[in-house]
Amino acid sequence: MYTLKFDENVCATCPSADCLLKCQYMEFDKNEAHEEMMKVVKGENSSVLHDCVTCYACEEYCHRGNHPYYLISERREEKGILTAPRPITNQWINMTQMQGKQSVGAIEDRAMSCCFLAELVSMGSGEIFKDIAPAVAFGAEFMCPAVHTHFAKMSVIKERLPVVIDNFVKLGVKEVICLHDECYGTYTSIAPAYGIGVPFKPIYYMDFLIERMKDLKDKIKPLDIKVAYQRPCSNRLIPEKLHLVKDILDLIGVELPDREYQGENCLCCAEILRAVSGYRLADDVQERNIADMVQTGAEYCVFNCPACQSTLSEKVAKNGLKPVHLIDLCKMAIGEKKKGV
Ligand code: SF4
Ligand code: SF4
Repeated sequence: MYTLKFDENVCATCPSADCLLKCQYMEFDKNEAHEEMMKVVKGENSSVLHDCVTCYACEEYCHRGNHPYYLISERREEKGILTAPRPITNQWINMTQMQGKQSVGAIEDRAMSCCFLAELVSMGSGEIFKDIAPAVAFGAEFMCPAVHTHFAKMSVIKERLPVVIDNFVKLGVKEVICLHDECYGTYTSIAPAYGIGVPFKPIYYMDFLIERMKDLKDKIKPLDIKVAYQRPCSNRLIPEKLHLVKDILDLIGVELPDREYQGENCLCCAEILRAVSGYRLADDVQERNIADMVQTGAEYCVFNCPACQSTLSEKVAKNGLKPVHLIDLCKMAIGEKKKGV
């Protein structure tokens, strides 16, 4: 079985304890944050193991290369501390089970991974994706299992991730273009943290998108709109890719005004928080986040993850914001989709 690579000494000598000091869901001063993290490191009981809402953010807050969120999830599982009621935890395990019902297109060197999110199959189409759309890979067989971190089921990840990677290897691919943010985070953060080899090159869809939009620059008509961006929890695993949102928006003439809950201070869509911490916290997070989007004067709420989009679309729409995925916004800019649809 794979084990998490975690350097205790890196935490012991940490001058910041930013992982827990910056946590938006627990209040600690610097000493307390360090003490609580060291309890987690040593396998002792800590309030963190009971109060962490699984937002992933401490993976981004730690700049010393350790993996506080994965460790918290490991310790919870070791101690049998469930984050959500057992039926919900099991429901997620069961509904993401591989069943041999995957959908595989005409794959040669490259695959377009749509994870287990059907919305991504239709999104990965049109002029932007014309060369890779036929190479679709979709289904539980290609699903990144990172969602199980929310339920402190790291054992499910360690069991399934090597199988998912092997499923791609069997297709003979050299590159996998990940349309789901969390897939890229899984291959480039979780896999190396556990020493799980990834024998193909994962490509982040926004890197692909920006190159395609540069190729299609003659077709771009600047959209001249203001948007708010909903950053997903999975993006905390790959903060080095955050700048791409602004880069793409700049390219298509879209303004991203500053707001309180963006960048490192972003709030997640909160739907998993609903399962883990209850409706009061989830409602509070969603209300604060949407009010913050509205006060910017944004016309659209731009999504990266389809799961956030299905959670928040109706709610942002009720507050006057049009929900749209970043890919569809790019399609609008080249005239493939109508504005406002
Ligand atoms: S996880 Fe990172 S930020 Fe937290 S105490 Fe350890 S080294 Fe410091
Ligand atoms: S995952 Fe989020 S809630 Fe949990 S300790 Fe890290 S920052 Fe705090």
